[in-house]
Amino acid sequence: MKAMVLEKFGEPLVLKEVPEPKIEQGEILLRVQACGLCGTDIKIFDGHVNTVKLPRIMGHELAGEVAEIGKGVEGWKEGDHGVVHIYVTCGNCYYCRTGRENNCNRGRKRIGFEDDGGFGEYVRVPSGNLCKISKKISLEEACILSGSVATPLHGIRTQGRLKAGETAVMIGIGGLGIHTLQLAVVMGARVIAVDIAEEKLEAARRFGAEATINSSKSDFVSEIRRLTDGEGADLIAEIVSGSQLPSILEASVKALRLGGRLVLLGYQYGQLFSLDPAKIVYDEIEIVGARASVRQDLADVISLVERGKVQPVISERFPLAKANEAFVKLRNSASLGRIILTL
Ligand SMILES: [Zn+2]
Ligand SMILES: [Zn+2]
Repeated sequence: MKAMVLEKFGEPLVLKEVPEPKIEQGEILLRVQACGLCGTDIKIFDGHVNTVKLPRIMGHELAGEVAEIGKGVEGWKEGDHGVVHIYVTCGNCYYCRTGRENNCNRGRKRIGFEDDGGFGEYVRVPSGNLCKISKKISLEEACILSGSVATPLHGIRTQGRLKAGETAVMIGIGGLGIHTLQLAVVMGARVIAVDIAEEKLEAARRFGAEATINSSKSDFVSEIRRLTDGEGADLIAEIVSGSQLPSILEASVKALRLGGRLVLLGYQYGQLFSLDPAKIVYDEIEIVGARASVRQDLADVISLVERGKVQPVISERFPLAKANEAFVKLRNSASLGRIILTL
């Protein structure tokens, strides 16, 4: 099969003919049709994710068609469409037992990281990691659900405990942000979107943001305070990366109401930010991280998309062989929606 292979960190992926994966008991062979590109792919590519060993077929937002079914697998037939939940976990550790399998610490592997992923024509997937999706949803839209939509759901629902009627601020309306925003709207929050690009703020309003703030033109902290009668936001989802991240985080804390939650979805390794402990104590604010998602997040997201409640947003499509061009694009522009590869 054809695959784009990462052979050396920091060097272009190489288009190669490689053997098709062989499936074992309990596994499904998926013919990959589309794969999303994520900021984490750049971190893998650059060699910052130290669990990734080379050569590796990257790609961790993938969807496709069932090509072959292993022994002992029930509930699937050839041709079914599925979206991959990439965390292959032990099922027995403390984290797996308590519904936090994304934190599994016994032999966890992630498809597209420690195992081969969606930058190749076929991938082997444990059947429990494949979530069925209606054929009414294109596989191009389906592929981005595991990363760009399930991750924000985990972030604002589980980690951020967003409730109907609350004010939720989205900082950064990119590939993740545009979906975080839609989820917050569906969950009944009043959503305020913050970005520096006017066209993204326009899109945010189209998708249900009740107010938008262009942070290149005005101070977003005072704007949030003004829009909330001086109270501040119940929840702020931070969905940016890059060198401005520490200053955004330091400012965001000042825009929270007492007891407000700051949820971190974007990050960059080693970027420190400072915080007055007294602020945390007296204001009872919470700062929480959100790592990927659990399988139920993906199942819920699929249901939301199938019922038309959330619209997957794709910014650009590249054929697999042009993955390197897609990477350049991803690195240089924070686009609205996801860049995907098609196979
Ligand atoms: Zn990702
Ligand atoms: Zn586990």
